[in-house]
Amino acid sequence: MEVTRNTPLTDFPGVGEARAKKLERLGLTAAGDLLSWYPRDYEDRRKVYEIQNAPLEGRVCVSAMAAEHPRLSRVRKGLELVQVKVVDHTAALHLTFFNQGYVERAIRAGEEYIFYGSVEVRGRRRTMVNPIFERIDKQSFTGCIMPVYRLTAGISNHLLASLTRQALPCAEGMAETLPQYIRQEHSLAAAEFSLKNIHFPEDEKALDLARRRLAFEELFYLAVGLSFLKSRRDKVGEGVCLPPRSKREFLSLLPFPPTQAQSRVMDEVAADMASGRPMNRLVQGDVGSGKTAVAAFAGWLCARGDCQAALMAPTEVLAEQHFKSLSALLAPAGVRVGLLTGSMTAAEKKKIRAALESGEIGFVVGTHALISEGVAFRRLALIVADEQHRFGVAQRAALAAKGGEGSSPHVLVMSATPIPRTLALIIYGDLDVSVIDQLPPGRTPIATYVVREDKRQRMYGFVRRQVAEGRQVYIICPAVEENPDAALPGEESPALNLKAVKTYAETLQREVFPDLRVDILHGKMKPKEKEAAMSAFARGETQVLVATTVVEVGVDVPNASLIIIENADRFGLSQLHQLRGRVGRGAHPSHCVLITGTRSLEAMERLRTLASTTDGFKISEEDLKARGPGDFFGNRQHGLPQMRLADLTGDMRLLSEAQEAAKGLLSRDPQLAQPENRPVWERVRQLFSDTPDIFN
Ligand code: ADP
Ligand code: MG
Repeated sequence: MEVTRNTPLTDFPGVGEARAKKLERLGLTAAGDLLSWYPRDYEDRRKVYEIQNAPLEGRVCVSAMAAEHPRLSRVRKGLELVQVKVVDHTAALHLTFFNQGYVERAIRAGEEYIFYGSVEVRGRRRTMVNPIFERIDKQSFTGCIMPVYRLTAGISNHLLASLTRQALPCAEGMAETLPQYIRQEHSLAAAEFSLKNIHFPEDEKALDLARRRLAFEELFYLAVGLSFLKSRRDKVGEGVCLPPRSKREFLSLLPFPPTQAQSRVMDEVAADMASGRPMNRLVQGDVGSGKTAVAAFAGWLCARGDCQAALMAPTEVLAEQHFKSLSALLAPAGVRVGLLTGSMTAAEKKKIRAALESGEIGFVVGTHALISEGVAFRRLALIVADEQHRFGVAQRAALAAKGGEGSSPHVLVMSATPIPRTLALIIYGDLDVSVIDQLPPGRTPIATYVVREDKRQRMYGFVRRQVAEGRQVYIICPAVEENPDAALPGEESPALNLKAVKTYAETLQREVFPDLRVDILHGKMKPKEKEAAMSAFARGETQVLVATTVVEVGVDVPNASLIIIENADRFGLSQLHQLRGRVGRGAHPSHCVLITGTRSLEAMERLRTLASTTDGFKISEEDLKARGPGDFFGNRQHGLPQMRLADLTGDMRLLSEAQEAAKGLLSRDPQLAQPENRPVWERVRQLFSDTPDIFN
C-alpha cells in the first residue's frame, strides 16, 4: 500500500467503519494524523531475558520455544482459555490466554517466539497471562522501544502502534517545515528523523533528539503566533487616544493616598491610553494590593474623555461589589456607573442597555454577559477584566475587534494569581505587565495556622473573642449541601466528610454561637439573596459568614479579621492564598485557620508552606509543581493552543531558544510572505486553528 499523509485510515488493513469511528474520536482520520499523535510514554522492550532470569517486576520480553501444541478449552460460556507451555534452556514458562482463541493456531509447537508480559511465580511454576508474542524472525513490537499512546475505548495500543508503523513511510515525503538555518543554529534533527524516532526510537539518544526537535518546533510556532498577535495589535494603531489629565483630580476622589506602586501603575496606564495605540496591559498584584483603584482611575480617564469603560468580573457577587465601590467613588465626579449581570430581569437589562447605547452610563460593571450579550456602546474605549484567568490570548483578540468606528478598546487585565514567570512569559507574552508590588500601609501580615480537629473548640473560642472585639469572621466550606452521613462539628469526621454550608451554619447557630448572627453565602443562592447576605456582612450586621469559595475572588470587607477554612486540604494552594486574602484588608491583625483531618504528609506539608509564607509567587510555584499547568489554569483556560510535547513549565531553555528564533525569523520576514517561509505560516495557522479571527 502506498501511504501518503492523506491516506484515509479506512484504507489500512483491519480498519473498518466501526474502528474508523473510534479512531476519529481521537481526531485520527488520515495517515498524517497518526504521525502527529505522539506517544505519551514508552516501554523498553529491547532486553530479552531467559525464563529463569527474567525479573518478576514489570513487563519483560522472554525468548522461548513452544514445547507443545496450545490447548483450547471452554471453561464456561463466554470464557475461552488457551494454555501452552514454552521453554528455553533455563526453565519452562506456562502461558495462559483468555478469550483469544486464535492463539491455538497462531503458536506452533517447536517454533521460537518472543513473549512480552509479566512473569509471575505460582507455586513452583513460572507463568505469564495474555502476553504479546511475535515469532522470533518477525519481530516488530518486541525487541524495541515501544510507544505508548493515549487511547480510547475499543482502540488498543497495539493497534495504534501498528497503524502508525504502517503510516511511517509518509514521513519521508514530508517537507521540512523549519528553515534550515534555524535547524543548524539550534542543532535540531531533521523532520523525518524526528517523526520516525518519536514513535519508534532507535535508542534513547535518538528519542532525545526527536523530542527536542519536535518540542522546539511547537514552541517556535507558538512564539511566532504570539508575536503575530502582538504585532497585529501594534498595527491596529487606533486605540482611542485619551489625553492625560491631572491625576491629582482623581486622587482627590480616593479616600486614601495611593501607594507608590499604585501611583506608578496609574501612570503606566495613563501613558498607554494616551499613546494612540490600544493598551493591552496586565496588572499583577497580590490580593489586597489595591488593584481596584487602578481600574477606577482608568475608567475615570475614559469617562472624562467622553468615552465609556466596561469592567468584567468573574462572579456576580464581585460585580456587585465593584459596582458599589465604583459608584461611590466616581459619582462625585459626575460619572454614572451601571451594573449589568445575567440574572437581572429583562426590563432592568433593557434600561441599562439603552443607557449604554446613549452614553449616559460612563462605566459599566458586569459579568461575562457584558461581552457576550450583544451590548452596544456609544463609545467603548476600555475593557477591564478583573481576576479572569480565562481571559487568554484568544479572548483578548476577539475583544480587540469589538471597538466601534475602526478603533480597538484598551484592555486592562487584573490578576492576583501570581503566575510563575515561565508561564507568564507565554500566556501574557503579548501583554505589557505592571506589578503592584506593595501593600497599602498599616496592614499586618495574616497569621496562618494549620489546625487539627482536636483544636476545634479552642478555635470557636477564638471566633468569639474576635467578635467580642468588634471583628467579623468568614468560615469557608468546600460544599453547599450536606451529604447525609456527615459528622457534626466537633465529632471525629471521617476523611471524606466535607463541611457543607447549609447544615454547618445551622448547627453553628444552634449549638455553638446562639448569641451571634450567623449567615450563609453560596453559589446556589438567588442573586438577590446573595446580594443581601453580602451587603449585610459588609455593613457589619452579620458576624459570622459561612460560605463557599464564592468569596474567593476580590470580596472586600476590611472589618473581617478571621477566616477559617474547613477541609483545607481539599483546596489548591493558590486558592487558599486567595481565600486568605479576604482578611487582612483593614488595619486589624488578621488570622487564617486551616482545618484539616488529612492523614497525608504531603498535604500537611503543602498547608504548612502556606502557613510559612505570604509570597504569592512562591505559593503559586509550589502549586504548579504539585498540580501541573493544566490544572493550575483549569482546562486550557489560558486560551493557548495545546502543546503536545513541550512542557510549558519545564522546557524553559528551549522556550527561550524558540523565542529567539521566532524573533529572528520575523525580523527578516515580518509577514512570513517569502515562499520558503510558507510552511511556517501554515503551521502557525494550524496551531491556532481553535482561535479563529486571528490569522486572516
Ligand atoms: P485587590 O488588589 O485585591 O483587588 P482591592 O482593590 O480590593 O485589592 O483593595 C483592597 C483594600 O485595600 C480595599 O479595602 C481598598 O479600599 C484598600 N486600599 C486600596 N489601596 C489603598 C491605599 N493606597 N491605602 C489604603 N487602603 C487602600
Ligand atoms: Mg480585586
